[in-house]
Amino acid sequence: MINIALDGPAGSGKSTVAKILSKELDILYLDTGAMYRACGLKCVKMGVSVKDEIAVSAFINDINLKIEYKNGAQVTILDDEDVSTAIRRPEVSMLASDVSALKCVRLKMVEMQRKIAEALDCVLDGRDIGSFVLPNAKYKYFVTADSKVRAERRYKELIERGTPVEFDALHEEIKQRDYNDSHRDFAPLKQAEDAVVVDTSNMSIEEVVNFILTDVRSR
Ligand code: C5P
Repeated sequence: MINIALDGPAGSGKSTVAKILSKELDILYLDTGAMYRACGLKCVKMGVSVKDEIAVSAFINDINLKIEYKNGAQVTILDDEDVSTAIRRPEVSMLASDVSALKCVRLKMVEMQRKIAEALDCVLDGRDIGSFVLPNAKYKYFVTADSKVRAERRYKELIERGTPVEFDALHEEIKQRDYNDSHRDFAPLKQAEDAVVVDTSNMSIEEVVNFILTDVRSR
């Protein structure tokens, strides 16, 4: 089984790189952030705070969340509804960051991720894939970049998509999410000891992809 773990903070370029790698290697791409985003949305639907562990633990194990693939792209389905677009709304990012700090949520999502990774060759992007979800993965990369560079990338992406955002607010949110993700008690954003660090601050997407492909193919 080929499992490639791509971890790193928001806006490091992981998801773009993961999508290209999955095509080049003809394996699945699992965007694990989408799963936590869907959990955030579910809390909104239920009228429950994303920080309320007791309320969330009452429904998380029975969450009706499915990951499907259409024309090679991941489709995230919550309660039989395609939420792939809704989970990209900027306000869902913080909801995902908060809800993902709850242990009951992580245990459930990690169980789903491990099942997928056991059954299929895939590249997974997330925060704790190499350190916690798949500690035995052969290929692990920690993709990072300066927070300002990451905010600039996210800003460009959202503006191109027609979503109005303010740069400074976005930069603050990215820093806040970095902090939350790295300081939560359970399975925080962490570089696995055996991960290869890729600082993309001054690298193009193509350069990052080539670097990882060369490394994967050489082993
Ligand atoms: O990757 P993305 O920005 O879509 O992830 C949204 C949030 O989900 C992150 O800020 C992080 O808190 C959480 N997440 C996580 N573990 C993962 C993937 C995402 O905690 N494996």
